[in-house]
Amino acid sequence: MFKTERPANAWRCRTTDSPRLIWTTGRICVRAGIGENTTFRRFETFEAHRLNTFFGFTLPVCPLGLDDLFFCKTQSYSIFFVYIKISTHTQTFYINLNILNYLEKVVICVIVDWLIVGAGFTGATLAERIASQLDQKVLLVDRRDHIGGNSYDCYNEEGILIHKYGSHTFHTNSSMVWNYLSRFTEWRHYFHNVLAVVDGKKVPVPFNLNSIYALFPQKYAEKLEELLIQHYGYGVKVPILKLRESASGDLIFLADYIYKKVFYHYTLKHWELNPEELDPSVTARVPVYISRDNRYFQDTYQGIPKHSYATLFSRMLNHPNIRVLLNTDYREIIGDIKFKRMIYTGPIDAFFDYKHGTLPYRSLRFDFDTLNQEYFQEAGTINYTNEYEFTRILETKHLTGQISPKTTITYVYPQQHNQQNEPYYPIPRAENRLLYNLYLKEAEQIKDKVLFAGRLADYKYYNMDQAVARALTLFKEIAEKRS
Ligand SMILES: Cc1cc2nc3c(=O)[nH]c(=O)nc-3n(C[C@H](O)[C@H](O)[C@H](O)COP(=O)(O)OP(=O)(O)OC[C@H]3O[C@@H](n4cnc5c(N)ncnc54)[C@H](O)[C@@H]3O)c2cc1C
Repeated sequence: MFKTERPANAWRCRTTDSPRLIWTTGRICVRAGIGENTTFRRFETFEAHRLNTFFGFTLPVCPLGLDDLFFCKTQSYSIFFVYIKISTHTQTFYINLNILNYLEKVVICVIVDWLIVGAGFTGATLAERIASQLDQKVLLVDRRDHIGGNSYDCYNEEGILIHKYGSHTFHTNSSMVWNYLSRFTEWRHYFHNVLAVVDGKKVPVPFNLNSIYALFPQKYAEKLEELLIQHYGYGVKVPILKLRESASGDLIFLADYIYKKVFYHYTLKHWELNPEELDPSVTARVPVYISRDNRYFQDTYQGIPKHSYATLFSRMLNHPNIRVLLNTDYREIIGDIKFKRMIYTGPIDAFFDYKHGTLPYRSLRFDFDTLNQEYFQEAGTINYTNEYEFTRILETKHLTGQISPKTTITYVYPQQHNQQNEPYYPIPRAENRLLYNLYLKEAEQIKDKVLFAGRLADYKYYNMDQAVARALTLFKEIAEKRS
């Protein structure tokens, strides 16, 4: 029934012959047909445990890939033998599924409860919850070659832990999100500091009292501090637009200064748009922080996963009900997977074949450089608001606390989004929101079968904690409907 050698005349299944996915847990369904465009006829359906009994040993629980399926023609060419390669710790077996006659195609079909597209925080949280709380089977698919979505980190060739898609600092005010993720990671406590180069000096952003003292003569800085505290109080974040409405000429000067030196050119570089062309809420958010607190975030919980984001994700997904398929666009396999429901965290316009038009995104290019020095700069992020084409230089070692005589820095170049790069930032403009709403209406119509969530599916910038919170809320709805 099975051999320990690969059958001599076996040939490998090609993508055109069969999908590249085989699932050995749960139900295995072998379908077969004859000729081109055959409607597949089900020959036999195995339950995994039946197969196990059949072959006398337990099938491994890892998903098998292309290399694991072999076809073997007999002399007469009328019978095809299908071998599945099974590797155990000690041996490799080739199991002969000798049940199929007159085949041109063999599809071993995956049957799961949920197909989840995208292995970022949104998809991973939903997969983990559904698998562990509802005891349902999930196939999680990502077109990238790793889990973790944009939060992914890895060691580069020089052994430095880098954040592949730009520095990611975790911060949240939600104890629910923090406690949930803390099941899968310990934290390295870290407060993010960002400096901006203004008039050749590196000053804290958001712009605060320390920035004022670093840039203006002592006496004038004292005057500005006094005016700010008098008008708004200490510890308050005042949007610069509000500051411009102020009665004091000095505060209007300060607002204009910050707008020009910290915000305007940076916005042009980042979005390739004038601030007026963006949603007014973007400008409204730029604050002066009347404080000596240099931290970029003031959230209650802040940190970096102690053993990397990648470890956090693999712990989340380490559940017998979850299988992960990487390097795969879901569209390549959707016809070969039987699932009850789907959660989609990819771009919503792509899901609907861009039928209402393309939702615009801004992209980034990350140029990495490893240097033979312990540290390159004073903080994890330094913004170059006016000079150079890049907007930031990142140095992840500040975040990870890794000890090494070398360091890797990342230059961040804003880019137009195209087919070759990644969609990072939805462009905050009213007309884009209207376009998104058309897709949202489409999504509403299929919500019994497909649920949309995440920064690409919701066309909304989420911090990591917001993505997790969104996923937890959606999970709650799913669980409540079920009960
Ligand atoms: C430069 C940058 C820096 C950031 N820094 C921070 C930070 O410091 N702190 C913070 O809290 N947040 C930060 N964020 C935001 C953070 O990255 C997001 O909150 C998070 O990635 C959202 O997770 P998600 O699962 O919704 O999306 P993603 O992480 O983007 O995951 C979606 C996944 O879907 C996959 N996918 C898409 N289409 C398909 C398809 N057709 N088939 C298969 N797979 C598909 C993609 O490959 C991707 O892996 C930053 C974002 C950027 C761009």
